[in-house]
Amino acid sequence: MNYRKFLPLLLALFTLTACNNTTDENSSMDKENSKVNAVVTSEETTTPESTEPPAQEPNIEVIDGITYVDGILIANKTYALPSDFNPGVSDEAYDALTEMEIAAAEDGISLFIVSGFRSYDDQDVIYNRYVSQDGKAEADRYSARPGHSEHQTGYAFDLNSLEEYFADTPEGIWLAENCHKYGFIIRYPKGKEHITGYMYEPWHVRYLGVDIATSVYESGLTLEEYLGITSEYQD
Ligand SMILES: [Zn+2]
Repeated sequence: MNYRKFLPLLLALFTLTACNNTTDENSSMDKENSKVNAVVTSEETTTPESTEPPAQEPNIEVIDGITYVDGILIANKTYALPSDFNPGVSDEAYDALTEMEIAAAEDGISLFIVSGFRSYDDQDVIYNRYVSQDGKAEADRYSARPGHSEHQTGYAFDLNSLEEYFADTPEGIWLAENCHKYGFIIRYPKGKEHITGYMYEPWHVRYLGVDIATSVYESGLTLEEYLGITSEYQD
């Protein structure tokens, strides 16, 4: 009878429904394969901000200032590389990338490197250019501070296009579905900025070797979640 009494409740219900719809739409926008999608969606539904607890504590070793987690060289916002760490592109990663490019070409897909190894000094120039352009807070969402770039490891490549629409191109879809078979992962997946520290980068792949890359891919987790580590600047 008294509709006014129920109006706030109805409005609240409507708002909740609208929010849920938005979340669902965002989730279904992922063009990744359904297996990965299923994992990501269920995670987001239950505990959006929390990460999967690691099976066991990560084994973190620092050798000559370089951090290895369970034997994997890590550069992210928490773990920096020394300024004189200048290995160049990894031969193993480059060979794997070449093998992937050949396999892609057989499927009519053209993959090519836009950016590979970057030294500490290169990153210093790039990062500071972005800071003066967009401000520090915004630059930190898409560009690493010097020492924190995965490109300095020699194991990371940017392929084809540095635009988010790359994810929906045949090349971007092929890369997301197949790169683990050649030892790579999409390092900064969609909706994981709060974990990886970076915006979605469908073009940025990190070499881990076939076994680990496949394991990470099948887990549906980011590398941080998979290893049980953070990616956050101290300041
Ligand atoms: Zn990159």
